[in-house]
Amino acid sequence: MKTSEWLKKYDIRLKKGLGQNFLSNSTVSHEIVKKSEIDENDVIIEIGTGNGILTEEIAKKAKKVITFEIDERLKPLLEERFEGSKNVEIHFEDFLNTDLSKFKDIPKLKYIANIPYYISSKILEKIFEESPKFEYAIFMFQKEFGQRLMAKSKKSYSPLSIFVQTYCTVERIMDVSKNNFIPIPKVDSVILKFNPVYKYVEEIDPKDFMKFVHICFSKRRKTIKNNLKEIIPDTEKYLTEVQIDPSSRPEDIPLETYIQLYKKLLGRRGAKKGF
Ligand code: SAM
Repeated sequence: MKTSEWLKKYDIRLKKGLGQNFLSNSTVSHEIVKKSEIDENDVIIEIGTGNGILTEEIAKKAKKVITFEIDERLKPLLEERFEGSKNVEIHFEDFLNTDLSKFKDIPKLKYIANIPYYISSKILEKIFEESPKFEYAIFMFQKEFGQRLMAKSKKSYSPLSIFVQTYCTVERIMDVSKNNFIPIPKVDSVILKFNPVYKYVEEIDPKDFMKFVHICFSKRRKTIKNNLKEIIPDTEKYLTEVQIDPSSRPEDIPLETYIQLYKKLLGRRGAKKGF
């Protein structure tokens, strides 16, 4: 059955506020699963089950899909769709409130999802701050947001780009036209794959580092010196010690330098975290 038929059968009107743009047909979900190279031992976490169009394709390949959906109106539809599918476990709860530590014994955890756009940043922060080790995350985003995540400098470069690129390599899997969704959104989408770099997750506390980078970017148009003066009294000395021109703007400073700056500050304070 197509998405439109499922929605009609259960008389469901999609809610914009929950980021409910569902894939209209299985061509894209099939393609995502093909590119994900899932094997029969994999346990996949999906965020935002929707009408189960991607869940169904993942379940054909994986050992198990653990999927989260906040909207209980979809319960009867999903119960019918996955009746008898023993490898699909649906949690009707807010993914952001889920305790991810309960998945710590899953050996080859992977995330695959067409995530709700309105909480894209929060989902990324949550999985890097709280998730047990995972092999990769493949997520679909609005295209502009995806560009921000991959940006290395200038306008699209943001604390989130720095955060994501510190903890993983980001790879573009494919673009998806807005015409593949119900209702059709204003913009196209992109699917990105994140491969975690655990060296940094262990060395640098993600939450603390994120707070530091936010302070560095607190006023984008101001200099880094200006943004840091609240927390570092001898800002100029500190910046020149790491060979940064104090008049640089936050968007002109490369990722590696932020890591250096953060480590230097912790070193000075003799602390493991500080924000
Ligand atoms: N997987 C389906 C697809 O590909 O067509 C639906 C994707 S739709 C973009 C996102 C889904 O996430 C919606 O069904 C929405 O209700 C659900 N959702 C929104 N906020 C959520 C949250 N905090 N936790 C879990 N699910 C959420």
